[in-house]
Amino acid sequence: MPLLGCIADDFTGATDLANTLVKGGMTAVQVIGVPDSALPEADAVIVALKSRTAPVREAVAESLAACEALLSAGARQVFFKYCSTFDSTDAGNIGPVADALVRRLGCGFALANPAFPTNGRTVYQGHLFVGQALLNESGMENHPLTPMRDANLVRVLGRQTDGAVGLVPFATVEQGATAIRRAMTVLKESGRRYAIVDAVTDAHLLAIGEAAAEHALITGGSGVAMGLPANFRAKGLLPERGEAAAALPPMQGHAAVVAGSCSRATLGQIGYARDHAPVLELDVLAQPEAAALAAQALEWAEGKLGAQPVVIAASAPPEKVAALQAKLGRDAAGALVEQALSTVAAGLVERGVRRLVVAGGETSGAVVSRLGVASLRIGPEIDPGVPWTYAEIAGPSGGLHLALKSGNFGARDFFLKAFDA
Ligand code: ADP
Repeated sequence: MPLLGCIADDFTGATDLANTLVKGGMTAVQVIGVPDSALPEADAVIVALKSRTAPVREAVAESLAACEALLSAGARQVFFKYCSTFDSTDAGNIGPVADALVRRLGCGFALANPAFPTNGRTVYQGHLFVGQALLNESGMENHPLTPMRDANLVRVLGRQTDGAVGLVPFATVEQGATAIRRAMTVLKESGRRYAIVDAVTDAHLLAIGEAAAEHALITGGSGVAMGLPANFRAKGLLPERGEAAAALPPMQGHAAVVAGSCSRATLGQIGYARDHAPVLELDVLAQPEAAALAAQALEWAEGKLGAQPVVIAASAPPEKVAALQAKLGRDAAGALVEQALSTVAAGLVERGVRRLVVAGGETSGAVVSRLGVASLRIGPEIDPGVPWTYAEIAGPSGGLHLALKSGNFGARDFFLKAFDA
């Protein structure tokens, strides 16, 4: 029976939250999409949806279905996870999903806090900062899908809900959990449905978590989840697990990296790997055909697979990406590469790879769905935000270890370091 049931509005956000909970001593499993069978055993279950930019009605319906599955499994508290930059539009989906969950849980009130100080996301007087910049001057104002043109979260959330939004300001948060709890009660009693809660440091997040111990619903980024494991321990519901929370089955089988991210960090990691491991860089422009690219990659890997990783990358610098996009169109170019790389991943697993790093958020989604992965048990962190996970898959292979790295994450030696543990 899960203690904490989580609904995440995107895939890598779900992993980020799961990773935070595991570091706090909870076992965690990430389920891909609304579960249609019994939930796996864990202290926290995180249902990963793709609801951030979905049509509002679809996002609400999926989130409610996820909530239902978590409640019927016995979850004692529900957490709605969104991005630390509050990615949304005036139409949603943070407000409408939160409204639906507040109604379903009958709680009338929830806090909202996207802060993640370690990554430079802080909330002060209701305003969200990214590093030293206000959200609307951070680059997020140009996001293609969810441009954030207002940093005042009381206003931003206010435009997405028919409920009223209040603020628990810095001065109150500084005073600690009791003061925060009191301020939230006052807001609720004065008719507010939400409270944006300021947070500038991890200590603030821990205090907010403690103040929300009895809340049926918490909404926020992964940061505000930091304080939640302690609540369950204080109630005697969660044993002291320590590092055992991150325990996975032993690693075995061949090692490989598949990269489809073209971010600067990933290109640097490929550059580093060139001097330390066999690296194949696919020339997608010269061979724009998924099956042929995959066949070429798998033939190259023949005889090279073993305990040391091989790296297969479609990743390319901006001018090459632009050239392929000009030739095929942006979506078709992405889909072609995702198809090629997911075929490569499936081929590698057939050839005995059981430890696989995938670089790129979209690329990870494609690989996970191609491999038929339904859930991921979250293990130890390799680099900030990127844990090893273990996926049970149907068929003779049984299961494999996956590390799904969102583009900008990981140190330069990530592709080698991941396999050192
Ligand atoms: P990130 O996490 O860095 O954003 P993603 O995997 O989410 O990485 O996105 C990268 C996208 O770029 C994917 O759709 C991938 O298929 C595509 N892509 C990868 N290599 C190339 C390339 N050489 N040319 C064009 N698109 C590419």
